[in-house]
Amino acid sequence: MFDSFIRLVREIYQTEQFIPLHEPRFAGNEKQYLLDVIDSTFVSSVGPYVTEFESKIAAYTGAKHAIATVNGTAALHVALLLAGVQPGEEVITQAVTFVATCNAIHYCGAEPVFVDIDAATLGLSPLALAEFLDRFGERCDDGVYNKTSGKRIAACLPMHTFGHPCDLAGLIRVCDDFGMPLVEDAAEALGSRLNGQHCGTFGKLGVLSFNGNKIITTGGGGMILTDDEELARRAKHLTTTAKLPHAWKFEHDQIGYNYRMPNLNAALGLAQLEQLPRFVELKRGLAQRYLDWAQANGAQIVEEPAGADANYWLNALLLDDHTQRDAFLELCNTRGVMTRPLWELMADLPMYQHCQRDDLRQSRQLAERLVNVPSSVVV
Ligand SMILES: *Cc1c(COP(=O)(O)O)cnc(C)c1O
Repeated sequence: MFDSFIRLVREIYQTEQFIPLHEPRFAGNEKQYLLDVIDSTFVSSVGPYVTEFESKIAAYTGAKHAIATVNGTAALHVALLLAGVQPGEEVITQAVTFVATCNAIHYCGAEPVFVDIDAATLGLSPLALAEFLDRFGERCDDGVYNKTSGKRIAACLPMHTFGHPCDLAGLIRVCDDFGMPLVEDAAEALGSRLNGQHCGTFGKLGVLSFNGNKIITTGGGGMILTDDEELARRAKHLTTTAKLPHAWKFEHDQIGYNYRMPNLNAALGLAQLEQLPRFVELKRGLAQRYLDWAQANGAQIVEEPAGADANYWLNALLLDDHTQRDAFLELCNTRGVMTRPLWELMADLPMYQHCQRDDLRQSRQLAERLVNVPSSVVV
């Protein structure tokens, strides 16, 4: 089975060379737009490509407003601040995620609380969330407090793992019931929809990433999505050093952040965005090839949840157990086909070891069995 997998990947990518997990494709107007930015001298945080990139992302996702940032982590930081997360508070998230999700919570002076995922979506489980809040949550005038820590649980931050949408309807029901804002870490989910609606547009705020390993890249970059005009205004203000608009005066009315995406990066992003619909199609085609192989070989591939159109950013194989997983990782990587295990669970990292969590049963089972396999767009 392992050998036939390696043959399949080599056939897909048509090379005997090293095959990375994910690499960007620059087959469109990237060079032209970048040269245009250099010629204009507007390479930094002011320039027409940034606003154009924002409006095209808003149009593509259906979000009313999109605010471009230097990276996805910065976007998460500001989105959480705008959701009302304050020092000494808590944010419920999943242990199955990239570390940026938790770091952004920490940047707000808050702490993550880990709740289990759904095996079907790989995202935060509405059932586990409801169970946790029924057991530990106490409703007060200004939201829910954690009976264990005495701290306010300020927000819920699910993540759409590898581009597979969480059960958003279920999560929103629980969050609404407890009066808790939902912020979506949709960093991996550009191009993913649930019942036709784009990920990152369900919550109060949502966040995208355009890091080099994501489905499209700006080099480094992120985006805050929201339908709320006032939140959008504050997002723009906070990410641009809280400078008051004026032709020559430098006046700032609060402590802001230098988080604005530079024009140079937005130019790259715009060229990439033009190719996104095709990238999504090609990625879904690639996922189908992995699925066909899995069916023929008695293997298991992660499939999009019911009602979802996933971007299949990273494909994932589910092995029998951690022994088989480790043998698979060893063989693929020594044979030049990059594969990697799930991220170390956030609840086990030294910085977050002390944080409260439920039993994380599904998260731990997934961590034992999952490997990501090469998923770059095949051209
Ligand atoms: C990529 C990613 C981010 C943001 O990363 P940046 O590199 O800062 O753009 C956040 N959360 C998740 C789950 C990610 O995969």
